[in-house]
Amino acid sequence: MSAITRDTSTRTVVADHVWVNDGEGTVLSRGAVEIRDGVIVDVSAIAGARPRGPHVVDLGDALVMPGLVNAHAHTPMSLMRGVAEGTSLLTMEGFLQVLRTREAFLTPELVPASVAVSCADFIRHGITSFADQYFFADEIAPVVVDSGLRARLAWGIVELGDDAARERELAAAEAFAESIVDASGVVQGWLGPHAFFVDNQPEAMLAELATAKRLGAGLHAHFSTTSEEDRWCAENGGGSAVERLVEMGMLDVPTILAHCTSLRVEDLSLLAGTGAALALVPSVAMQSGVGAPPVREALDHGVTVALGTDNVCNNTNADLFEEMRTLGKLAAFASQVPNQVTPREILEIATLGGQRAIAGGKSDGSLMPGAVADLIAVPTQEIARGPVGAQSLEAALVYGTSGASVTHTMVAGRWLMAERGVLTLDVPGALSRQQADYDILTSRIADAVGVNQGARGQ
Ligand SMILES: [Zn+2]
Repeated sequence: MSAITRDTSTRTVVADHVWVNDGEGTVLSRGAVEIRDGVIVDVSAIAGARPRGPHVVDLGDALVMPGLVNAHAHTPMSLMRGVAEGTSLLTMEGFLQVLRTREAFLTPELVPASVAVSCADFIRHGITSFADQYFFADEIAPVVVDSGLRARLAWGIVELGDDAARERELAAAEAFAESIVDASGVVQGWLGPHAFFVDNQPEAMLAELATAKRLGAGLHAHFSTTSEEDRWCAENGGGSAVERLVEMGMLDVPTILAHCTSLRVEDLSLLAGTGAALALVPSVAMQSGVGAPPVREALDHGVTVALGTDNVCNNTNADLFEEMRTLGKLAAFASQVPNQVTPREILEIATLGGQRAIAGGKSDGSLMPGAVADLIAVPTQEIARGPVGAQSLEAALVYGTSGASVTHTMVAGRWLMAERGVLTLDVPGALSRQQADYDILTSRIADAVGVNQGARGQ
């Protein structure tokens, strides 16, 4: 096996098993993925002897598969991991009470270490692309670029109908999206209206749309986490929130709609064929005690469906393998139909659907020629699978595999992790800086309110 380096030129990745994600369940026994300039140029079964040479990385008894896409994240919020346990952040009330009180004391220098912790979590759990939405995007971007992850970074906008806030936020978001110039397309700046209608009113939304169109960017918003948007629209001109989004042309650009737990099934036909992608977070839906998103119905209507982890304040981890099996179990539980969403569909949601959500190319999310070379490896023995013939590999990947088993992560032909070691970030350093940041945040809050709400050791 040749040394794993950060060089991105031609290389061949070899493994005992390669899951191609071609829609037909193809698994190559002794497969080779050939990569050139960050793109897959060939995938094939090895005939004869295994290839060797300076450009060959042979992972042996492992499964290679496309990297997973986390279509809804807030990377700085690992600083507040766990603080929202027992509270639903899917309501405006929970968001304001638990998060905004802490975010009011957050300053730019407390952001980078937690972004690095989140990016390392992603890399270690087999996530190769993510869509982020948060304030302080200027501090987020350099860390993400260093991490090597593929990302769409949206500047979070909350304006609450305030003219001054709207003007300030829109100008900042536009300047940020313009500032990210990456010809390779690995990192792009997007706009992040925190929630349509609820805290970004139509005037702001239309300005965000115009900027996204001008820059070739997308929008990333929370949507239908409760029925707040539908209520707002009913009280302000009528129609459902989805109908209003379509009327306004908001879905003419790539638009991530995160959560969608209360999305009306009768609105799904309006979303098909648009730039909208549902970014579902089943763990958060369950922990927040809200309903299951209509995933079966969305797939049947041809709506793009992706998967996210959301912040780790009330999801705790960033393991999309866990999120995949939670999606399958929640859909079966809510519908009382076993396998209502099949393992193959769930894998496609976490790969192809995610790539569509972040405006990737048609074959991105597979290992087919022409796809971006974003892939991961899992040791075969760490996939809990029944005897061959008893269980499909796809079912074993969804229901019997942990993200913690991922050993190698590659983005655009560049290794970000090898042998479970993150190559692009100083993980111990980021964790200790994050602890120091947390202590600073906690003492600021204590000084301000006289109550130490999050002291260490509690
Ligand atoms: Zn969120």
